[in-house]
Amino acid sequence: MIVEIISVGTELLMGSIVNTNAQHIARALAHMGHDAYYQTVVGDNPARLRSALDIAYTRADCVITTGGLGPTKDDLTKEMLISYFGCTPVEDAEALRRLEERAAKRGVPLSESMRKQATVPSGALVLQNDHGTAPGVIIEKDGRACVMLPGPPKEMVPMFETACAKFLRKKSDKVFVSMNIKLYSMAEKGLPVGESPVADRLGALVDGENPSVATYAKEDGCLVRVTAAAPTHAEARRLLAPTLASVREAIGEEYIRHVEED
Ligand code: ATP
Repeated sequence: MIVEIISVGTELLMGSIVNTNAQHIARALAHMGHDAYYQTVVGDNPARLRSALDIAYTRADCVITTGGLGPTKDDLTKEMLISYFGCTPVEDAEALRRLEERAAKRGVPLSESMRKQATVPSGALVLQNDHGTAPGVIIEKDGRACVMLPGPPKEMVPMFETACAKFLRKKSDKVFVSMNIKLYSMAEKGLPVGESPVADRLGALVDGENPSVATYAKEDGCLVRVTAAAPTHAEARRLLAPTLASVREAIGEEYIRHVEED
């Protein structure tokens, strides 16, 4: 499945916070075998979110949004998506129960703005929030899927790892396994271990598609990543092994600091 991430939040656009949610999701998508070709950051603005969605669905089957599910006026993601998908807003009984319980524990009445968080699109799968107030939602309609997750990482990550990952895994027929080969830095070894001499040594090995071999120049030395895709992790590891051995041989063991699975 082709998946696109849309991170909603003016704070992200202004550089006030780092988009760790997109990093977390993108990494997981790669492991799950989903293709993710674009990421978008958009502010808390309904028209621009709509246009980001329009663009995303020209090239992806599933959009994952983070942020904008909370109780305040600028939290517009859910309302926007309810209208985008032509769904009816309905109140989710379990989400409402949780909000009421939370308010009762604090000894305060449930405010209208807090209650608004229990509103979900009709027909959606509701992802209850065990670490905050706003539930996440998965909508599937007319061949398009949309996963809406809350912004705070301490809420987003556990929700993503449980119900959301289960949904995404079912949509994938392959997994990716990557092995990272970390080389010594030039300063440490006094050896030609920069990206281009390493690429020269790898030769045609970098032309392979599955497994693929890629080099990355890092500040503390070059990294070579070997990645294989297969229906299961065990098959991907089996497929990867001969290429990994050839890459190690081509580089030379004396240049390799360590090898680890990503
Ligand atoms: P809330 O109920 O807190 O309003 P929300 O789903 O509406 O949740 P936002 O208001 O968009 O989320 O963001 C809340 C906070 O979550 C932000 O102030 C920021 O600290 C964090 N956050 C939001 N998006 C991201 C992101 N993409 N990466 C990292 N942190 C984020």
